[in-house]
Amino acid sequence: MGLDGGAPGGDAAPMSGISSFDAAVIGGGVVGASVARGLLGAGLSTCILDEGDVAHRASRGNFALVWVQSKGLGMARYGAWTRASSDLWGAFAAGLRAETGVDVAHQRQGGFSLCLSEEELEKRRASLLRMHNQPGWIPYPWEVLDRAALLPEFPGLGPEVVGGLFCPLDGHVNSLKLFRALHISFAARGGAYLPERPVSAITPLSAGGFRIETPRGAVEAGKVVLAAGIANARLAPMVGLSAPVRPQRGQVLVTEKTAPFLRRPVVTLRQADEGGIMIGDSAEEAGLDERVGLGVLSVLADRAVRMFPAIASLNVVRSWAALRVMSQDGFPIYDASGAPGAFLATCHSGVTLAAAHDALLAPMIARGALDADMAPFGAWRFDVPQVA
Ligand SMILES: Cc1cc2nc3c(=O)[nH]c(=O)nc-3n(C[C@H](O)[C@H](O)[C@H](O)COP(=O)(O)OP(=O)(O)OC[C@H]3O[C@@H](n4cnc5c(N)ncnc54)[C@H](O)[C@@H]3O)c2cc1C
Repeated sequence: MGLDGGAPGGDAAPMSGISSFDAAVIGGGVVGASVARGLLGAGLSTCILDEGDVAHRASRGNFALVWVQSKGLGMARYGAWTRASSDLWGAFAAGLRAETGVDVAHQRQGGFSLCLSEEELEKRRASLLRMHNQPGWIPYPWEVLDRAALLPEFPGLGPEVVGGLFCPLDGHVNSLKLFRALHISFAARGGAYLPERPVSAITPLSAGGFRIETPRGAVEAGKVVLAAGIANARLAPMVGLSAPVRPQRGQVLVTEKTAPFLRRPVVTLRQADEGGIMIGDSAEEAGLDERVGLGVLSVLADRAVRMFPAIASLNVVRSWAALRVMSQDGFPIYDASGAPGAFLATCHSGVTLAAAHDALLAPMIARGALDADMAPFGAWRFDVPQVA
């Protein structure tokens, strides 16, 4: 019997005296947990090998938007994938609640981007127009609103706000509750969560499947899914894949809890289900440095107060920085390796895409191949020579 006390659920059988599973997911962040839950749903005995608390965990520091507007300029397929996930989110949240009793506070009543100058508004409008005019784009509703149109929604709007954009598909969630619900659901479905297992090596086996080494022992699995966030860059070559991802720091401020005053989220500012106002999120190239900086935080606070002056009277109770998992072009990477059974899943919007990872990506992995229309997400796109 294996070091991990045997495989749970499914029909996992020891292949060589160590624990074995149909699938091993490396990384227990929101991406890994969503895919792993979906693999169990597809009938595969599944373990999650997770590094532990020393790891950089984007999943615990995010802004919790389930966001559609602005996703996909440069890759129409990403727009459709994001939209599909947003469409699935209601059923996903209901399923998690039924299985775990955790209400992840999902709301999809639309969301706004607010602009503090005409120039900013025009830039955003032009960018969304370009996105929606791309070949292959599947249309969905969005609109540009002037200040007068925003006032009924936001009576406390600051005088500098000139207008904004609205998309009815946008929403938000409580991402810590999501994280908890995913892990409870994974365990309830018979998954084996194996913490303190930083994966150091992955070796394809001659009979098929993989041997995965950790300091606390090895496991074997028919399929392996790399979902280790930034660490995918190091792990991917072990199975013949490539994951050119880098950390990108985001900083977030949270105020004390206050009476409901924001019914729907703004891309940089939202009221959490528990009452605090979350203000964020910046984007900085700072390597693995997860420290907050007063310079960035004060810019975030200043813009928030200019949008909603009432925020100035609230105390800030927390601030943090966390590292996004960013590819070179900002789009997700989903890939399958030449060694059959190895897959890669990495993205910077793991909350938004959680429903798609659970209901669409995991079944593809369970079937053994990504659907043909996932090809645009492959890492091959980074190897295309630049046109002179
Ligand atoms: C400031 C900020 C705001 C964000 N806002 C949003 C938002 O509003 N909406 C949205 O959709 N997304 C948002 N995101 C992004 C979202 O949080 C990420 O997409 C998501 O967390 C990435 O998840 P992940 O599971 O890939 O990575 P992580 O959360 O980083 O998890 C990686 C996991 O892999 C494990 N690991 C690492 N190395 C190994 C190894 N060798 N062996 C085993 N395990 C390993 C780690 O222990 C960790 O648990 C935001 C992110 C940040 C930082």
